[in-house]
This record gives sequence, C-alpha cells and structure tokens, in this order.
Amino acid sequence: MELNNDEIRRYSRHLILPEVGLAGQKKIKAASVLCIGAGGLGSPIAMYLAAAGIGKIGIVDFDTVDFSNLQRQILHTDADVGRSKAESAKETINGINPHCEVVIHNTRISSENALDLIRPYDIVVDGTDNFATRYLTNDACVILKKPNVYGSILRFEGQASVFAPHLGGPCYRCLYPEPPPPGMVPSCAEGGVLGVLPGIVGCIQATEILKLAIGKGTSLVGRLVLFDALKMEFKELKLRRDPQCPVCGEHPTIKELIDYEQFCGIAPDVAAPQANPDEVTVQEMQRALKDPKLGIKVVDVREMFEHEISRIDGVPLLPLSELRQRFTELDPNTQYYLLCKVGARSHQAMEFLRQQGFKYVKNVKGGIVAWSDEIDRNVPRY
Ligand SMILES: [Zn+2]
Repeated sequence: MELNNDEIRRYSRHLILPEVGLAGQKKIKAASVLCIGAGGLGSPIAMYLAAAGIGKIGIVDFDTVDFSNLQRQILHTDADVGRSKAESAKETINGINPHCEVVIHNTRISSENALDLIRPYDIVVDGTDNFATRYLTNDACVILKKPNVYGSILRFEGQASVFAPHLGGPCYRCLYPEPPPPGMVPSCAEGGVLGVLPGIVGCIQATEILKLAIGKGTSLVGRLVLFDALKMEFKELKLRRDPQCPVCGEHPTIKELIDYEQFCGIAPDVAAPQANPDEVTVQEMQRALKDPKLGIKVVDVREMFEHEISRIDGVPLLPLSELRQRFTELDPNTQYYLLCKVGARSHQAMEFLRQQGFKYVKNVKGGIVAWSDEIDRNVPRY
C-alpha cells in the first residue's frame, strides 16, 4: 500500500501527527468499512471517513431520499430527493475524495445476505434506525469477529460504543439482551430528532473507526458514551461482557442468524394481508366524519404541538399523554376512531381504552400522514 504525491498532499495534516504518520495513513488506506445505512448517522460517518482516506467504503441502503431526511442527512441534497440513498451517497463521497472506492449495496440487509455483505470488510458501522437491523448487525459481527461501531440517536440524546467480543469487550446483546416491546421506543420519524445530533454521534463513530484502523488510542470497547444535547453533557458507562450472552457468552445458543423481525415482535408481512379488525382506513374515517348518523366519533390522540402543525377540521384533540387522566370525558358505549401521526400511538390509545371497558374503539391505519396522502393534500405532512 503506497501513497502517491497527490495523496501525500491531501493527507498532510494526518502525516504530521506522530500517532498517524505515513504508516498510519497507509493503514487507513488499506482499511475497508461497511456502513449500514446512509441516513443521519451514515452521513457524517461516510463523509469524514472518505475525507480521512479510508480506502474502501461499502454503503448498505435500500431507501430513497425523502424531503424530511434533509434536515440531518447531509450526504443528500435537495436535488437528490427521490433518488437512491446509496447512489446519492456514492456521488457525495467521491466528490469529497475520488481516491475512496465506494461499493453500493442497494438492498435491505437481512438474515439471508448479512454475512455475505459484512465478510469482505474489516470494520462495520451501525447507522441503522431500527431494532431488528441492530440485533442482526450485532449477531453477524459477533459470528464473523468484526468490530461493530455502534451509535443510536433519538430526540436530543445519543449513545455510542464499539462492540467487539473478539477484542475482549461485550456485544450489543450483553447490554440489551431483549428488544423493547414493539412501539415502546419511538423511531426518529415518530419521536423526532435534533438535526445536529447524528452529526455528533456519527463523528464519535468515525473517530473510533479511524483509531481501530491505525491501532492507536483507547477505543470504546467496553464503554458506552451517552450524550445529552439539551444539557450538553457526556456520560460514560463501563460495560461488561455477559457470560450468559446468547451470542458472545460462554455457551452461545445463537450460532447462526435468526428471524430478527420475529425476535423484535414485528409481525411478518403476509402475502395477502387480511383486513385487521382493529383498524379502519382513512376513507372509512372520512365517511364517519361526513355522516354523523353513523354515530362514530373521531378523536386525535397526538400532542398539542403536533396539532398546531396540522389538524383535520371537526376532529377533537385528546393527547395520549393526557388520556389516563381524561378518558372519562369519552363515552364507553360510543364508537370511536382514534387518529395519531402514523398509527402507533393511536393503537396504544385503543388498547388502553379497551382495558377501561370501551367496546367500539378502532385505530385509523396510517394516521394523519395517510389522510394527507390519500384524502386531503392541504393537510401538512410532517
Ligand atoms: Zn454478548
């Protein structure tokens, strides 16, 4: 692995750091990193790694760029909306550093392809936004003995670590043996995220990758960094390997990849979806609103600040956060359709009201987002 004169000029600020030097820069060039996700975390990770001279970056992402991504996913520009994220990422990365080889994997990582995707790379970086992919990435990295540089973000808080049982540290399952019940931890789409936050957490991940590549410094193996942007506070937890861990413990029970959607409690897509008796469509909701004789009332269970962003005429607000105190305002014998942003919180509200003896409660599938897409485009989609 040699550096040409252009590369020596490009990386000169690295070359004069004694901890990096020519030998370290050659190691960075020789390194290959698989970045799972080209979103909020993947953006700063891939851009800084490319700029720093990582020789090969793989990008796994099956999604396309959406307007709501641009607030934080700085790999993509306004002109990229609708394009493949992996292709948009490759263009941006090569614009920063044409010496970086970018391999795009325009696919969804799964139990079938994860080992083949990860095997050719030295280091894996987790930029995913869901639990099924996070456990899948963890298990595949443990099986293949690849360091898994982990980061996650929500609202104003983030965390980062390096999971590498083969280097003496714990894995993600040692820290979180069980996924949270579906719907308990909101996604960034549901809970929101400060646009700068993935920049900070992603840069911590990129720093760890460069340290792993050159073999210098003290890595985050065995440590979890917690960051709170509102307080501007960093905390650190020591992590221990769990000898009972099902994947990296002394007697592992998971030796090959499993069904992670099932493990995380997500119902598999059925080929011919049956109508869910708990759900109604936005078209059915529209009928209920137009025809009061049906005796069906629609209630919006989103929060006040969301109601200020967008609302539907004639639909009263009763936020989920106040439902426990205020459900007696509703009549247990009336039929209700419950509405939230995309349908997860209204499902929780439905379950709660049923426990309180409400017999005729249903959840509006797809929430106000589906209403905006299918019924009335004048209702802002957020
Ligand atoms: Zn473990």
